[in-house]
Amino acid sequence: MLPASLLDQLCSVPGFDRAGFLQAHQESQAPTSIRLNPSKLPPLNDAMQPIGWSRYGYYLQQRPSFTFDPLFHAGCYYVQEASSMLLEQAFMQLMPQDQPLRVLDLCAAPGGKSTHLYSLLPPKSFLVANEVIRSRALVLRDNLIKWGAKNALVTNNDPEQFRALPNYFDWITVDAPCSGSGLFRKDPDAIGQWSVAAVQHCAARQQRILLAAWEALRPGGILFYSTCSYSVEENEAIAAWMIHELKAKSQTLHLQAEWNITPADPGYRCWPDKAKGEGFYCCCFQKPTDGSQPVLPRAQRKLRSVSKNEMSIVRPWVNSEDAFYLLLHQTVYAWPSHLRGEWEACVALLHVIYSGVRIGELLPDKLVPDHALAQNNDLHHSIPSVSLSLSEAILYLQRKPFMPEQAAKGWTVATYEGFALGWINALASRINNYYPKELRIIKDSQAS
Ligand code: SAM
Repeated sequence: MLPASLLDQLCSVPGFDRAGFLQAHQESQAPTSIRLNPSKLPPLNDAMQPIGWSRYGYYLQQRPSFTFDPLFHAGCYYVQEASSMLLEQAFMQLMPQDQPLRVLDLCAAPGGKSTHLYSLLPPKSFLVANEVIRSRALVLRDNLIKWGAKNALVTNNDPEQFRALPNYFDWITVDAPCSGSGLFRKDPDAIGQWSVAAVQHCAARQQRILLAAWEALRPGGILFYSTCSYSVEENEAIAAWMIHELKAKSQTLHLQAEWNITPADPGYRCWPDKAKGEGFYCCCFQKPTDGSQPVLPRAQRKLRSVSKNEMSIVRPWVNSEDAFYLLLHQTVYAWPSHLRGEWEACVALLHVIYSGVRIGELLPDKLVPDHALAQNNDLHHSIPSVSLSLSEAILYLQRKPFMPEQAAKGWTVATYEGFALGWINALASRINNYYPKELRIIKDSQAS
């Protein structure tokens, strides 16, 4: 049973149709949808139906076992609720596509919007994907590695700490922690946890997060605010407060009528009985220009670059000519050269837990390649690979023993349908499986 106090409050909200809303919760299921990775495009099939508001978004007719699909582990797609993909319309309509941008996703784990933003960045831009909860920040990092990200930093900071970068970002996404009513259809257990007090608690927290984000946004920049809550206190009331307190200017999006997304006052709502997706609210704000310039942080500490000698060990593994290779605790990372100064400053000011591409561990005479290098298209073309069958790929992802017929000796990338899964090291009589333990498929079979 949906909370009566929530339903009563929604009666006055534009687009709310009590009967349709109740029916959507009682009689229909949340549609399954995925978003493809443009840098690892998997083959399409007839069962995939495009989502109108996202270039790479598709509905699936049924929910397959993603766990047992190697392409899921290769980072070819992200399983994401369709309404959330509205972010794409906002980003494409409100941001210039021909200049590098500094983009922050402030509440980013597990990474749905970060991987989406990453796919939309104009060349030479970069993304800071931040998550305050440590364990969730690690999942965010893993998802960006799987996505093949290069121009991204993953940070584990409280939003307050972004005040150290005043007027810095061109775009900030605040996909705020919320009371979660928009996901009741997907997760009926959440109904029991909902309360008026939780809504009020979330609204106060949303204001705190937005105040810090606003500091870090450059004048003229755009803040995208979203929740998966239906409550006015977390949506329109927060937007009204932004406009009143911060002089934020709410932005209009051009959305096609057949998408059935409802204009709110201000912002936009997805109702599950109208748009094909779950409950979602978003509103975009521009920060007024006041003549102040972004304060570019100065690097306080230069990081140690890989020496010429060390580079002779690293070079055979990597493709990129245009990278700065740095050494941190014996681990080599590749950064886009043009971002070195800015990233050094970010490393000094924020708690950066991942940056660029982790290439591997440098030993005195060799490199032990990292999983991130295999999942990234910067890997040198001369590195051998071996194509696995579906059953071999599953054994590989479970870290169980298997012996592919064709594997060359030494470090080899295990692939499935042309997409990299990770490393193996083939010895004369056995294969060492280097798929990261923490990512392995734990289930034995689809049935278990
Ligand atoms: N944007 C993510 C995506 O698309 O995959 C989902 C984000 S979820 C709605 C909100 C996130 O905010 C959670 O990861 C949660 O851990 C984080 N969070 C919780 N409390 C927070 C706080 N006080 N400040 C910032 N983020 C917080």
